[in-house]
Amino acid sequence: MKTALVCGAGGFIGGHLVKKLKREGFWVRGVDIKAHEFDPTAADEFLLLDLRQEADCREALTLNNGTFDEVYQLAADMGGMGFIHSAECDIMHNSALINIHMTHHASQLGVPRYFFSSSVCVYRDMQPGEPEMTEAEAVPANPDNEYGWEKLYAERMAQAYQRNRGMTVRIARFQNCYGPYGTWTGGREKAPAAICRKVAEAEDGGTIEVWGDGTAVRSYTYVNDMVDGIYRLMHSDLEGAVNIGCPQYVTVDELVETVAAVSGKTIHIKHIDGPVGVHSRNFSNERIYSTDWRAQYMLKDGIAETYSWIEEQVKQQQKVGV
Ligand code: NAD
Repeated sequence: MKTALVCGAGGFIGGHLVKKLKREGFWVRGVDIKAHEFDPTAADEFLLLDLRQEADCREALTLNNGTFDEVYQLAADMGGMGFIHSAECDIMHNSALINIHMTHHASQLGVPRYFFSSSVCVYRDMQPGEPEMTEAEAVPANPDNEYGWEKLYAERMAQAYQRNRGMTVRIARFQNCYGPYGTWTGGREKAPAAICRKVAEAEDGGTIEVWGDGTAVRSYTYVNDMVDGIYRLMHSDLEGAVNIGCPQYVTVDELVETVAAVSGKTIHIKHIDGPVGVHSRNFSNERIYSTDWRAQYMLKDGIAETYSWIEEQVKQQQKVGV
């Protein structure tokens, strides 16, 4: 039986990835600094470890005096735009330490295949309508935030270990990912979850606050599609960074309209000042398409799944009066 380690398995995408690997027949160890908040882990074994610590990385990577067939590194100090703009030091310190130690010890222990989860935050700000950007166009680099700079460093580090230490590395740059069992409140939630929560809390005919003027352009990838893309990329021969994203681009206001339509409510928008991030994003998915991957969920379908889960969380929270 093939074995896989998922770092960040207590988190949103890592939690879904564990289930995907189980469906594919792997024996899976999950590792995280915390248990999964919403979804009991499906991993065969789950270890609570702090991957900023070298000893914890080695413990995570060691299996029966050997190591894993595949390692998926998704652990990061992570959140939506509000968090990214307020926690620059935590991101630069914590995520860099995790990646420095994980990449180094995975290579030392002879991991044959190592996956790193990067982000489209490595790209510069774009204007709506700009031609699609390819992976190679991330350099010369000018990410809009420190989170993107840390990802670029970690990408380059993983590639150096591939070139010089012989570890096969696969790197995905994720577009915004959304779906059930992700952070939906508390300050680290990303836009789709935050908007689903605000709409679920609002009355029919009510108003929700949205950061910025609502014209920023984004694409959102449903989590089932994302873990399918991760799996295909890991088993492909694609070297270097690979974008994974849904090609449907919408403005933030269109995201709100989609959530409102799914909820069946009439929702008005009040634009307020807040951290928005880049104006636009438009990326080529040609490299991941070469694995036959395609996004199966358009925004309306993915939001339908996500909204009903978040609406349920909101109801439960209201019931216990939190
Ligand atoms: P998440 O916050 O839900 O998951 C990250 C997990 O890492 C968390 O469970 C957290 O507890 C864990 N972690 C943090 N510090 C740790 C430590 N010191 N030791 C062990 N575990 C630690 O985030 P996610 O959305 O599931 O993202 C997974 C990966 O994908 C991250 O690397 C993130 O940067 C990347 N990514 C996500 C998105 C997105 O839209 N969600 C987009 C681009 C890239």
